[in-house]
Amino acid sequence: MFDILVPRVCRICGQSLAKGEDLMCLHCHIDLPRTGVHLSDFNDVHKRLGHKCRVWKAGGWFFYLRQSPYAQMLVDAKYAGQPSVDFRLAAMCARELEADGFFDGIDFLVPMPMYWTKRLRRGYNQAVSICEGIESVTGIGVVEALKAKSSHGTQSRNTRESRFTSISGTLALSRDWPRIAGKHVMFVDDIITTGASASEAVQTLWRASPRSVSVLALGLTKSDS
Ligand SMILES: [Zn+2]
Repeated sequence: MFDILVPRVCRICGQSLAKGEDLMCLHCHIDLPRTGVHLSDFNDVHKRLGHKCRVWKAGGWFFYLRQSPYAQMLVDAKYAGQPSVDFRLAAMCARELEADGFFDGIDFLVPMPMYWTKRLRRGYNQAVSICEGIESVTGIGVVEALKAKSSHGTQSRNTRESRFTSISGTLALSRDWPRIAGKHVMFVDDIITTGASASEAVQTLWRASPRSVSVLALGLTKSDS
């Protein structure tokens, strides 16, 4: 009945989805531009976060290329009120990375926080939806151990250096931080671009004395794009 009202089509190529397919058809799922960075101990994500950032595992599921329909899925999830897209993409990502042992040893997932007025306006925080999607596959619990101290605007036009400077000091530990002390935590966001936000998040998380901090995003821009 639902399919008659809203045709289930692939968000990438527009073909009708077959039974068992979700968001993407099998062909587009296979063609997803996976980065594979999580398979290497020291990768592009580690490099982007910088030497000040101690990070254990680091992953970015697929290349976020502006104008690509794959990137558009994340844009829609963020701005078009579709947190369920984030949840389902994250579950797909988790099934793949779990098979590579990427989540082995991780105790908690920590989402990128959103300033409370922004979250109220948007109605959700996409990073929380992504964590919940990963949790649905791996069973790893979500702790919102970080909070945003201010609402900073979009930074897409800023230079790499100014992004690192402007985000510095904008995050803090939430009152839930004691839960992550001594634990292996994985910081989760939708997209990593310069790495400035993730770097700030990781450095803030270390103040809670976790055992280790890892990082995962669904989308990873190509270096400095
Ligand atoms: Zn397709």
